Amino acid sequence: MTRHSERLRLRASTPGTAREVMVHRYGAAGARPKAYIQAALHADETPALLTAHHLARLLDEAAGRGEIVGEIVLVPFANPIGLSQFVWGRHLGRDEISGGGNFNRHWPDLLELLGDSLDGKLTDSPERNVAAIRAAMIEALEAETPRNELHSLRLILARLAADADLVFDLHCDDEALMHLFLIPAHWPEGQGIAAELGCRAVLLAEDSGGGSFDETFSTPWTTLAGKYPGHPIPPVCLAGTVELRGQSDVDDTLASADAAALFRILQRRGLIAGDPGPLPEPQCEATQLDACEVLRAPAPGIVAYAADLGAKVREGDIVTWIVDPAAEDPAQARQAVRAGTGGLILSRRDRRYVVPGMTLAKIVGTKTLAARLGGSLLEN
Ligand SMILES: [Zn+2]
Repeated sequence: MTRHSERLRLRASTPGTAREVMVHRYGAAGARPKAYIQAALHADETPALLTAHHLARLLDEAAGRGEIVGEIVLVPFANPIGLSQFVWGRHLGRDEISGGGNFNRHWPDLLELLGDSLDGKLTDSPERNVAAIRAAMIEALEAETPRNELHSLRLILARLAADADLVFDLHCDDEALMHLFLIPAHWPEGQGIAAELGCRAVLLAEDSGGGSFDETFSTPWTTLAGKYPGHPIPPVCLAGTVELRGQSDVDDTLASADAAALFRILQRRGLIAGDPGPLPEPQCEATQLDACEVLRAPAPGIVAYAADLGAKVREGDIVTWIVDPAAEDPAQARQAVRAGTGGLILSRRDRRYVVPGMTLAKIVGTKTLAARLGGSLLEN
């Protein structure tokens, strides 16, 4: 069986425009396990687009050899709206410029859409409960009417992902090491995925607070298990945000290796036949997202880093200087920004002029940070 590709039309928000998402489907519809993989929901995160390109090639070859066992849905560019957003020659793909906000926040809340529709429908069979919940999720999404172009994009992608066993949302950071976001229910189950991808950090949070794409599909299962304690509901949707390093880490060597790693993950999880070979040694343990410090600029100025990407810092070490170009006395121009926790410098910003509040670095620590409690754990 070969690839089946289709183009799904978004509801246009403005007259005379038409956008669509392309969907590559592999394997028989309804086959299990099902994986859903999408690239560059933040449309300016180009490593994801090139990785999806290489993955499609590998999947085409596997399909040609008859090796697809489960169902694989690959969306090679998840955000045609964001791909069109050029402002004064610069591509802006993180937020919708017409006011819709961050593309990876405010995804439909499946629990809210389900309401009480599962009351009286659950049994003591985990398999039947999973089937009933998946069917109810799909039904709830299909009952929604798209309000505008962005909402129609969200409904199309959510409908494709909602009943998957495995969801990978491919992103990248500014300048970063490979890392992965999961909910705690999927650790240590996700250890093999992190090892295969060569992750340098795995950040766990039950609810990071923003309505991100991955949690839209993973957290409903643990929440429903709490809501219906008398019925077995396993966390069957392992959904992760994969951060494919930094914005500029775009080349065929990296992307084909990352695609091959995703391919081997699909083999290990029974979606593709064949031997993936030995699992690489894991490069990290998982840590809690609320122990990951987001270091922010205290003042405007030039960012001059003192610590390299991948460096291990101790609490109090200088991570970067902020240099004030307006200081009269150069001796007074430099302000040190210090690590509030010890850990790995996971990411840094790539553009080196900041105003107060902008993110300077993320440090993967192991101790819960008081400043990270009580609000959204996501950057913005
Ligand atoms: Zn992103």
